[in-house]
Amino acid sequence: MEIVDIYERAVPISRFSDPLLPSGGLTTSLVVLVTDVIRNGLPVVGYGFSSFGRYGQSGLIRERFIPRLRAANKADLTVPDGTNFDPFRCWSVMMAGEKKGGHGDRSVALGTLDMAIWDAAAKIANLPLYRFIAESMGVDLAEVVTVPVYAAGGYPYPTNDIQQLVDEVRGFLDGGFTRVKIKVGTEPLDRDLRRIEAVLALLPSAKCLAVDAMNVFDSTRCMTALSKFAPYGLWWCEDICDPLDFDTLEAAAKTYTPPIAAGEALFSVEEARLLERYGGLRPGKDVLVFDPVHCYGLSHYLKIVRETEVHGWPRRAFWPHGGHQFSIHVAAGLGLGGSEVNPSCFQPLAGLADDQAVENGGTRPLDLPGIGIEALPGAHGLFSSLAVMS
Ligand code: MG
Repeated sequence: MEIVDIYERAVPISRFSDPLLPSGGLTTSLVVLVTDVIRNGLPVVGYGFSSFGRYGQSGLIRERFIPRLRAANKADLTVPDGTNFDPFRCWSVMMAGEKKGGHGDRSVALGTLDMAIWDAAAKIANLPLYRFIAESMGVDLAEVVTVPVYAAGGYPYPTNDIQQLVDEVRGFLDGGFTRVKIKVGTEPLDRDLRRIEAVLALLPSAKCLAVDAMNVFDSTRCMTALSKFAPYGLWWCEDICDPLDFDTLEAAAKTYTPPIAAGEALFSVEEARLLERYGGLRPGKDVLVFDPVHCYGLSHYLKIVRETEVHGWPRRAFWPHGGHQFSIHVAAGLGLGGSEVNPSCFQPLAGLADDQAVENGGTRPLDLPGIGIEALPGAHGLFSSLAVMS
């Protein structure tokens, strides 16, 4: 069993359903990993991408991590009997020679390939990824697995913001979602409050609305904003300061009573340990939104889950960032709290398949082998074009 080819390309990705709206030049890397395993007359292919928000990672993927995979002995990439790839061994091969520290773009690059390896391995095992993950981790799953989800979006629109925000959230609710998350922090505070109140008017309870400040607040703005948000009693307030500003985070957790979500912009178990130790967060109340792709992939994200559990955090505290099918599988396979879904942003890589309904605040992970990218025609077309054009 071996890897025959690996293709990579960075593609533009938009925060808006209308990709013509300015979105900061955001990109994500796609990778296609072709194996020599043949199923139904075709090679098994693993798909991965760099999740959203941290840009594509072509240089690191092409110059460091693909060459290490390609140069490895076949036996170093597989389980002992050679019947499947071993994502953890592949991970170690890719990290060979890397020094400690420097988490960030490297962790995103590695996580992109890690996703493709998990996808290929689950396909070779002929299991949906969430069942392959559960089997690999010894997690017992129910016959029917449902993942709690919420719809994320609500980036500030350049024109007619409030009306477009309301229309976007109405679309989420029409799609069956009962909980939503919108962005705050990039606009003046009074505008954020108007955005929050416009969305709250559509929802049965403030417990159905989370807000995400995308790490933009300094300490003063953070504490001022939280004092204004507190009376609403929101579901959670996310990324309320710089990801490494544990002083502000700790001060906020002492005074802001509703849940706080953190961890999206931390990428390693070492950083997660610092967050747990110095961030003042409250196990049992607060929410951890580490992105499994950005954290060196699922193979490393698992270390974060385990380490945090040791310190008293329930698995239900994890709601992985991403809003795509991979996050849903990870949440399902590990029994996490739930998953973000991006129904309108980051298309065609995010969101749900046409027949993947949201009912009672949850959805079912796709039951195709692997991630199930093949059930998303736009995403599958993008990946397929990659192998053809490279
Ligand atoms: Mg966030």
